[in-house]
Amino acid sequence: MTNYVIEPPAVVAVPVAGGGMFPVRRVFCVGRNYAAHAREMGHDPDREEPFFFMKPADALVINGADMPYPTRTSDLHHEMELVVALGSGGVDIPEAEAERHIWGYAAGLDMTRRDLQGEAKKAGRPWDMGKGFDFSAPIGEIAPATQSGHPSAGVIELTVNGKPRQSSDLSKLIWSVPETIAYLSGLVALAAGDLIFTGTPEGVAAVVRGDVLEGSVAGIGTVRTRIV
Ligand code: MN
Repeated sequence: MTNYVIEPPAVVAVPVAGGGMFPVRRVFCVGRNYAAHAREMGHDPDREEPFFFMKPADALVINGADMPYPTRTSDLHHEMELVVALGSGGVDIPEAEAERHIWGYAAGLDMTRRDLQGEAKKAGRPWDMGKGFDFSAPIGEIAPATQSGHPSAGVIELTVNGKPRQSSDLSKLIWSVPETIAYLSGLVALAAGDLIFTGTPEGVAAVVRGDVLEGSVAGIGTVRTRIV
């Protein structure tokens, strides 16, 4: 037995629709992957290569649990996203082979301390504390790709307290899921257990304590959390 000097951290795992748990290794996120969202954030979507940031695996909020309103912000934003769950990985994965590495898909929320992210952008500093904070990644059940297939189109939407806030279609992703996997695997070796949040469509806005967020991705599933 390994002589750990402290208790090793628990494995973070996301429930799978139909049973079982998907153990999470890392959480990658794609920035500005829908043109209308890139524009609402003040950027030209036509000129950018994909770029990535990360959240720690234990930022995931599962089973519809409440999300505590985070510290040090007064501008907590929702970003509704399709999440890809990898069953295997590799380096320089060709786009045509990318789907083979996908175990399943989920609906997720890339919650963002927009004020801290804005300050970091202005100062040329990392986004980590605007993006990768505790409870920043609510996620629904993972749908196995063997059942869902690999969606390249379908409605992605979010309501807050029952009112529509974000609504778009997966066909509007600037970088498709296979293109994203191919590109990211050129930067790091992807591995089983990795999640990729694929970016949010337009309509991001602030939430406050008491708000109930309910998102869905057609053919994949739902995500729900209440801000407390
Ligand atoms: Mn995002």
